[in-house]
This record gives sequence, C-alpha cells and structure tokens, in this order.
Amino acid sequence: MSEEKSLNFIEEIVENDLKSGKYAQIVTRFPPEPNGYLHIGHASSICLNFGLTQKFNGYTNLRFDDTNPVTEDTEYVESIKNDIKWLGFTWENEFYASDYFDTLYTYAVKLIEKGLAYVDEISAEEMATLKGTPTEPGKDSPYRNRSTAENLDLFERMKNGEFPDGSRTLRAKIDMAHVNMLMRDPILYRIKHTHHHRTGDKWCIYPMYDFAHGQSDAIENVTHSICTLEFIPHRELYNWLIEQLEIYPSHQYEFARKNLNYTVTSKRKLLQLVTEKYVNGWDDPRMPTISGLRRRGFTPSSIRNFCDRTGISKRDNLLEYSLLEFFIREDLNKTSWRRMAVLDPIKMVITNYPEGQEELLHGENNPEVEGHDGERAIPFSKELWIEREDFMEEPPKKFFRLGPGLMSRLKNAYIVQCDSFVKDADGNVTEIHCTYFPDSKSGEDTSGLKVKGTMHWVSVPHAKTAEVRLYDRLFTSEEPDREEGDFKDYINPESLVVLKNAYIEPDLANASKQLEENPDRRYQFIRKGYFCVDKDSTEDHLVFNRTVTLKDTWAKEVLR
Ligand code: ATP
Ligand code: MG
Repeated sequence: MSEEKSLNFIEEIVENDLKSGKYAQIVTRFPPEPNGYLHIGHASSICLNFGLTQKFNGYTNLRFDDTNPVTEDTEYVESIKNDIKWLGFTWENEFYASDYFDTLYTYAVKLIEKGLAYVDEISAEEMATLKGTPTEPGKDSPYRNRSTAENLDLFERMKNGEFPDGSRTLRAKIDMAHVNMLMRDPILYRIKHTHHHRTGDKWCIYPMYDFAHGQSDAIENVTHSICTLEFIPHRELYNWLIEQLEIYPSHQYEFARKNLNYTVTSKRKLLQLVTEKYVNGWDDPRMPTISGLRRRGFTPSSIRNFCDRTGISKRDNLLEYSLLEFFIREDLNKTSWRRMAVLDPIKMVITNYPEGQEELLHGENNPEVEGHDGERAIPFSKELWIEREDFMEEPPKKFFRLGPGLMSRLKNAYIVQCDSFVKDADGNVTEIHCTYFPDSKSGEDTSGLKVKGTMHWVSVPHAKTAEVRLYDRLFTSEEPDREEGDFKDYINPESLVVLKNAYIEPDLANASKQLEENPDRRYQFIRKGYFCVDKDSTEDHLVFNRTVTLKDTWAKEVLR
C-alpha cells in the first residue's frame, strides 16, 4: 500500500513495536504547558501524536504540563482544548501533571529511601560552580552524604513550608563526574511559595520538568513519549528515574521542531507581541498561533495537511510560510464562493446603458465543483465601481484592462470599451466613461468581439460597504529571532492594511448569516484573494480578512 511507503521514522518504530508484540496498543500524549496559546509548531506535534494513534491501534491523552506555577493560567487551558478540538482531534483523557503531585512526592521519598536523593542547601551559584564543565568533572556538595533519616526529615519540612524559596532543593544522587551534565545530581524539587492555578496553596515545593515529565508518562502508561530534539540529553535521566522508581517503562523519542519563516514560534516571544501590543491579541490574524490562523481563515485540514505533508525529521527545519499558504489555497479553491468586491474603487459610467435601468445577472458560486454549488444574482446598472488599478490613462502594450479605446469584459456581464475619463482639479482620474455591447452578455455572447481581460465590478446603487483587512508577513526577516538585536525590530510595518471603504456585491451583505449557516463559509473575492468574515463584524459593519492572495506574491523571494 502506498501508505506504507510514507511511514516516517516514528511510525516505523510504532509499527515494529506492534508487530513484535511489545505492545497490544499504543498510548501517546500531547503535553502542553498552559503558559500561552498553541502555535503552528504545536500543531505538528498534535498531528504527530494523534495521527499515530489514529493510524495504529491506540489513544492519545491531553496532559497539561502544569508543574511550574508561575506562568500558568486557566485561560490558556481553555484555548488549548479549543484549538485541539478545532484541529479535529479527540483526546482519550484530560490529565494534569499537577494531579500527580502527591504521587510524585511519594516517588521522591522512595528515591531518598533508596539512598538516591538528598536535600541540598548550597546556593544556586555554588551549585553551578560545583557542577563542573563538559570537559571537567564536578565536585560533590558538602550536603551530599546526609543520612536517609535526615533527608526524609528535611524533605518533609520543605513540603511543610518551613524554608524560604531557593534555600533548599532535592537532588538526585547520581554521579558528579558523569559525561552527561544533566546526570550530575540534577535538581528534582525546588521551593516556590506560589499559588498554583489548580492546587492552590497546597504545595510550596514543585517538581522540576525532568522529575515530572517521565513520571507522568509512566503513570499514564504512555508507550511512546514524543518530544523535540532538545530533550535528547534528558533521555538518560528519563530512563534512570523510571528504572530506579521501578515504574512503567515509557520510552522517549525525539523529532525536530518545525518552525515557520517570517515569524517566531516561541510562546514567550508571542506573549511579548501580545502584551506589548504589537498585535491585537493572541488571535491576531498575523500571529502563527492556531487561533490566529483560524481567525485569518485557515481551515483545520489546511493546517493538518501542512503538518503531515512536511513530514517528520531529525533535523530542525525552517518551513516556508508559502507552503502553508499553498495548502490553504488548495482547500479554499475547492470550497469558497466566488464573489465580487472592489477594494480601491473608481466609478465607471456606461454611457449607452439606459438611465434607471437595471438587470439581474447570474454568477456561479464555485465553477471548480460539480453543479457549481448554486449561483447568486448580481445586479447590473449604468454605474459601476471598478478597481482603480484596472484603468490606465496611458496603458502600456499588453494591458488588457481599461484605458482610452481599450476593451475588457466585465465578469458575468458585458464587454465594455473605454471612451473617455474625467479628472478633478488635482489631475486625479475620478470617473471613466465606457460604452457597452448589448450582444456580448456572458453565456450568450454573439458579438464576435475578442477581449483578453476580465474585470470584477459592483453596481453603484446596489453596492454595500465593508471594511477589508489585508495581511502580510508579520516580520521582514525570515528568522527574526536570529537577527542582531531585538526580534521586534524586524516587525513588518505593512503587515496590516485596513481598507475602510471597500464595495461588495449585495449578496455579500449576507455574509454573517451565511457564516451562521455554515461555519466553513469562505469567499474568493475574484482576482483579490480568499476572504472570511472577521469576528469584529457587526450587523451594519462587515469586516473581511484576507486569508491569502490568489497567487504566491512571495514566489520570487522563495526562489531567491
Ligand atoms: P514554546 O517554546 O513555544 O513555549 P514549548 O516546547 O515550551 O514551546 P510546550 O507547551 O512545552 O511548548 O509544548 C508542547 C508540545 O509541543 C511539546 O511536546 C513540544 O515538544 C511540542 N512543540 C513545541 N513547539 C514545537 C515546534 N516548533 N515544533 C514541533 N513541536 C513543538
Ligand atoms: Mg515547554
């Protein structure tokens, strides 16, 4: 089967583990820290973890890795759940690492009893000095050889809140000369007198990531614990703790982070953009967050396709934003309704069209699909709005739109020829005068005229106004966080352009209602790109977001 050919290296491991009978079913988990909104990098981890258990026999847990009380928030928990569901995945269990605090405490006690952990009280600076370097062994702390009884007593008193923050730690007793620096008596617990979003003030000692993560995997009987490459050196400690605690042998596997060019994918940096108001919230359509992409008009399948089809790698990779756009175009081309909107209007008068006359023309909703997904009526009249850029006073050769004497077709309507134009005192063109050919109506054209260009338009007396927001890359640099200085110095000042006075064809005035009827409703504004209704829309003020242009305007950059 073709599917087998495309197995990635983690899928191969899983398939072999199932074939060999190592597991009857596999269990994975997606373990976000609730300290921000999910971004496109997380989406790839979600697609990998949930994708594995969908493809093979198994299930995936959602586990909030909430062992650090300082940065976490329930707002983030809700947004994460919402984003995963929206991407189309269902978790088997919703777990919180903080629910394991009692168990983790007993695990720590067990290590102390086995002589494998001790309470240290040297300062952080001293600890760093004693740690040694990759080429020099470390030195033992003077507190390393306390008795088990003393360690048990001190650890309990740490838990009971007798000591201030930073004054004591619980450390694993492994080997201060170990080649892997992370194995040189790593800290397991620290004191933090901080309120926790779930456990309140019950705890003032919190486990370190390394003492929570693998243990949570084991508690949940996770078979394949997938994380990103920076955790490779942690694997040794992960395995050591599982072995010494004699708990379920989960296994850690690493894959490369996926990053996107022209943006940043780090919750800490995205948070700065939000709090310092460079963007309008986590769901600003320019953000690489899942909520931002959703508001921008991306579909779940476009994001899933992007994640799946860019594969899983062992080397960190910077993916092209254009590729993400490729997948959304592919999707929206098949589903979006074609509509006409004039973003930068100029008036056209058809001099030979009778005053006061109007007619209803028809346009397919989507010529790409069978049956065209129905059609809508488009009113036509003597005065139309057209795009300012579709007229040139002195057109160059091969300009197939309008200029003195030039002919062009109005989409779904007639062929027109430009006869003259009007200028204001400042020399700006304010009106274009054309004649139309009554026998050139689309679908029943007997005029014999041949024109190359087709233009979109909106009838002046029938037009509605709307606000249109156009987006571009959020940063001018491909890797803003690798540039000199602050990554925020590379924000693209033209990343958002707001057009307050665009004209839309009357059917688009129903866009909010159409969205209620079908939450996936999207539009192709002919020649202008794919658009969706923004949540800022009100009954009498529609706002559209451009999801993506029709063609890749950055193609040159990409080929560079
Ligand atoms: P950030 O630096 O954005 O805060 P993180 O790794 O600290 O990322 P977590 O909430 O800990 O964020 O991540 C949850 C899961 O998502 C982890 O398994 C992590 O490895 C994975 N993940 C995070 N960023 C990426 C990325 N860019 N590509 C692939 N997986 C990622
Ligand atoms: Mg993290």
